[in-house]
Amino acid sequence: MRLAISALTDELRRLKAEGAASVPVSQEGLDALRRSVARRPAAAPPAEETQPPPSPPAAPPVVVLPEGDKAARWSALCQMVLADPACVARVRPGKKAVVGVGSLDAAIMFVGEAPGAEEEVQGEPFVGPAGQLLNRMIGGMGLSRGEVYIANIMNWRPDLPTGPDGVQTGNRPPTEAEMAHCLPYLRAQIDIVGPRLLVALGATAAKGLLGPRSFGALGEVRGRWHDFGGRPLMVTYHPSYILRNPTNRTKRLIWEDLLKVMERSGMAISDKQRGFFASP
Ligand code: URA
Repeated sequence: MRLAISALTDELRRLKAEGAASVPVSQEGLDALRRSVARRPAAAPPAEETQPPPSPPAAPPVVVLPEGDKAARWSALCQMVLADPACVARVRPGKKAVVGVGSLDAAIMFVGEAPGAEEEVQGEPFVGPAGQLLNRMIGGMGLSRGEVYIANIMNWRPDLPTGPDGVQTGNRPPTEAEMAHCLPYLRAQIDIVGPRLLVALGATAAKGLLGPRSFGALGEVRGRWHDFGGRPLMVTYHPSYILRNPTNRTKRLIWEDLLKVMERSGMAISDKQRGFFASP
């Protein structure tokens, strides 16, 4: 597999933002990387590195929802997202824009980053591996996916150059302009659902809600209560961080954040739940 240096750098930046101080690399792998770079002719960088940065979408939309019940307003919002020219221009042919999913009466709203490969196919947030883990986290809280609301900062999958087969293999974090464009749609979902509290999953979601320059490393804001439009906001790890670091220590850290969410929501917590992942 070849990876554009820009994609690798983005991934390393994302890991750093999530709190990683180092990543395991074998000496063999490092040597192979150096050899391959040394062989590359200086005048011919790979095509994907010469791609221009993603074009910023137009000014953020002004979302005005019709009067009506929650279902009618949510459905109007979905139509608005699907008809947004910025969204239409950025969703790849055959793929879908993604709006939130779940109970319109949910007390807890989870906010992730952006759709990935599986999500843009199904048109639903968190249906890939990170979504399976999120479902288990929600299950550990004694809830089901249908009892909470799950949304993303972004409504489309941030684009990367595709390979010769036309398939996009990696993901990149959204730009500030992309997040600013989609934020009114997330705010509208929050207004419609009216959750008691919000949970930001990972650094990008937290930056989307708290502001792109509001913190440096995720550790500065994780595990603490913040405010978003008058609602309590807990910042925790993105499930994909746990997938990459599946130790009891990281699972316990995210679980402690979710215990705080349960406490603040007034949910009953059993001794068993309190002890999840407590042993090393
Ligand atoms: N990661 C996210 O942040 N959102 C999704 O919908 C899927 C993966």
